[in-house]
Amino acid sequence: MRLLLPVALLICTPILAIAAEAEAPALDSALVAQALELRDKAMTQVQAYEILQSLTQEIGPRLAGSPGDQAAVAWALVKMNELGLQNVRTQDVMVPHWDRGHLSVKINAPNPQNLSAVALGGSVGTGEEGIEAPVLMVQSLDELAALAPAQVEGTIVFLPGRMQRAKDGSGYGPAVKKRGSGASIAAGLGARALIIRSVGTDNNRLGHTGALRYDPAQPRIPAVALSNPDADILEYQLSQGQPVTVHITLSARYLDQARSANVIGEIPGSDRAEEIVIIGGHLDSWDLGTGAIDDGAGVAISLETAHQILASGLRPSRTIRVVLFANEEFGLSGGKEYARLADIEKHVIGLEADFGPGRVWKLDSRVAPEALGKVQAMQALLTDLGVEPGNNESGGGADISPLRKAGMPVLAPSQDGTYYFDIHHTANDTLDKVNKEDLDQNVAVYTTLTWIAANVDGDFGRLPVETDEPTIPVSDQQK
Ligand code: ZN
Ligand code: ZN
Repeated sequence: MRLLLPVALLICTPILAIAAEAEAPALDSALVAQALELRDKAMTQVQAYEILQSLTQEIGPRLAGSPGDQAAVAWALVKMNELGLQNVRTQDVMVPHWDRGHLSVKINAPNPQNLSAVALGGSVGTGEEGIEAPVLMVQSLDELAALAPAQVEGTIVFLPGRMQRAKDGSGYGPAVKKRGSGASIAAGLGARALIIRSVGTDNNRLGHTGALRYDPAQPRIPAVALSNPDADILEYQLSQGQPVTVHITLSARYLDQARSANVIGEIPGSDRAEEIVIIGGHLDSWDLGTGAIDDGAGVAISLETAHQILASGLRPSRTIRVVLFANEEFGLSGGKEYARLADIEKHVIGLEADFGPGRVWKLDSRVAPEALGKVQAMQALLTDLGVEPGNNESGGGADISPLRKAGMPVLAPSQDGTYYFDIHHTANDTLDKVNKEDLDQNVAVYTTLTWIAANVDGDFGRLPVETDEPTIPVSDQQK
């Protein structure tokens, strides 16, 4: 149950909370009153679920370059116009187009069994004959890298490491490394294919896909992910001391690059229209499910946040820009292209929703130290929604990471990710996994923060420019 307190009572909270830290309140009382009114309305009259329903049930899977991707761009243009956004437009983005084809993974010896698996995104195929080879189980990438080629040559390498469940999703970073770089490390030592235990926390018989990254200096070998129960089967047979042979057939292939698009719409600012507050998520999804939690939820949260502000009749001082990014999953194409063309200095702050539909439980950020008082005052307005103070070390989300690395501060409402990786990148990523009330709470949080960011006096400073390239391939590098 949510606690709906009278606005007058709530207005006092943030001002008292920050009184001890600053001589003047970080937010003026009129702005706080508007934000609270928007927040409370956004908890009762939200269409985010209906937006998500339309995207998942009408468009469905949206793999970069696929017909579903094209349909999603057209859908987003219509939806933004319906919701009343202005300057609605596309920004062309070229994207890779990969087709997963058909996969079969079978233990042939010593105890034959079919295994449930999916190809990793971008994997090459095996050819029609498939690949049959003895399996070499290696516990970690470090252990694999330390092996001699003679130990690996001609085998199928199996990495059985298991992802740990965590509310903040912190188990993902360590677990996803094997998905990203395992194939090329194995190939460099002469392996013929790679099998990993899925990067996921469930015990369903569904594999988790996600992008791999081939090192151009190494041969490209096929790479697949077993579901957790199937990884258990393979691990058990390997533990019995007899050689285990697996046969993999995969018809995945690359098609020609395709044209996709970032879809952009705005609520124009009044007196500071050239200054931009950017909010968004990614429009593409993997092909196995309908992309409800990843990242239909972020699309719906972003669109409904703008809709809530439009419906209030209030107009922001700064421009609020919604961007639905192309192809986050398989190369961050849309985020990179947006940043390449953007006047980044005019982007005051950014918020990205790409960690599912779970309730927001803390407010992270990365802003200049002198702007932390504003973030603390914003968080105080969200206490009644269950949002705790977070840290100031957030990455902000994959799509806006190129902007953040160029100096744009970020606000990052952190969702509860306890169950996110049960579903993430599987055929189970469908609408029924989304709780409407949790999604509405996200909209209330995003609406409050977006409204304040678009109207507050002063800005959030700038961040130090980072020039290094990410070393882990892209796929939902949350926070
Ligand atoms: Zn993803
Ligand atoms: Zn995502």
